[in-house]
Amino acid sequence: MPQDPFDWIDAQHERLRAAGLVRTLRPRSAGADLVDLAGNDYLGLTRHAEVVEGAAEAARRWGAGATGSRLVTGSTALHATLERELADFCGFEAALVFSSGYAANLAAVTALSGPVGSGTLLVSDEGNHASLIDGCRLARADKAVVPHADPEAVRKTLAAHGGRALAVTDSVFSVDGDAAPLAALAGVCREHGAALLVDDAHGLGVLGRGGRGALHAAGLAGARDVVATVTLSKSLGSQGGALLGPARVISHLVSTARTFIFDTGLAPAAAGAALASLAVLRREPGRAERVRAVATGLYERLTAAGLTAVRPDAAVVSVRAPSPEAAVRWAADCRERGLAVGCFRPPSVPDGVSRLRLTARADLSDEQLAGAAATIVATAPGV
Ligand code: PMP
Repeated sequence: MPQDPFDWIDAQHERLRAAGLVRTLRPRSAGADLVDLAGNDYLGLTRHAEVVEGAAEAARRWGAGATGSRLVTGSTALHATLERELADFCGFEAALVFSSGYAANLAAVTALSGPVGSGTLLVSDEGNHASLIDGCRLARADKAVVPHADPEAVRKTLAAHGGRALAVTDSVFSVDGDAAPLAALAGVCREHGAALLVDDAHGLGVLGRGGRGALHAAGLAGARDVVATVTLSKSLGSQGGALLGPARVISHLVSTARTFIFDTGLAPAAAGAALASLAVLRREPGRAERVRAVATGLYERLTAAGLTAVRPDAAVVSVRAPSPEAAVRWAADCRERGLAVGCFRPPSVPDGVSRLRLTARADLSDEQLAGAAATIVATAPGV
């Protein structure tokens, strides 16, 4: 009998099962039978009539798929309009859209860590999102992982290196919802002539005036030494990602970023939906304020009831659970009562601390907010 080439998977799966780490997929229902504090539809735009129509109209006009790489047949007038509008809205010179935020981050880190042989150092916050970490892994550059949200550590690392460098950070960290000290980081980078790359996946639509993002809020939008990435899949309720920055950086990525060149362009429907969302956001800037108020309201209600949570800097509220098992049970109990919440446990969280991850939404009423908080408190382990 020839050897079974996948027998190692059974053994590994058994180890995951024994550790309670097997993940399964559960289709969500299309109805509104659950209050959703687990998804990232922060502004409640994914089902907005204008956004759905933006997607449908784009598909009717341009087709269901992009048909090819952006460099071949995958660029439409819609892509160019979306890039112009994203750059204008967020205050950057230019933008480039990708099929996902993940692809945008891989592109940003790899393409900006050059030129090969220049000795560029990537300085990466230890709490960064997996897509930035993977970008660092793919990049042919030296890496330094620095303590979380610590500009002083970045300063020391840059000073010790002394050469070309790119500092990489999330603007709002996806697990705990805390914000990076962007102004201080930019200051440190400037002192050392380093560039700063900020993943604003959780800032766009939530932070800054009318949701223009964390870079706009920090006065860094449009700076010559700062590049941002965003996702179209959270606040904008669509799918896809983008890089925002100086025009010369964007031109460089068009010619060198492998996840741009070798990937099929963003689907027209996703571009149409994101454009429609930006139009809604321009008209209704209060959505950004509302999502922040809902996050703070959740935090205040939960901590007043004795739970331990991280004060939210944006839409994500992280609530401590005593153990991985308790976190899983807590989330299941919430679901049984009609509330979907996220549940993070090791190894997704390297610090070993399990938590519920709640995402605030601008379209949540005060009654729904109070009801959701009451459910979380009523089901809390040991409360
Ligand atoms: N960066 C951060 C901080 C994220 O939370 C996510 C989504 N989980 C991404 C990037 C990836 O974006 P996308 O889902 O568009 O690939």
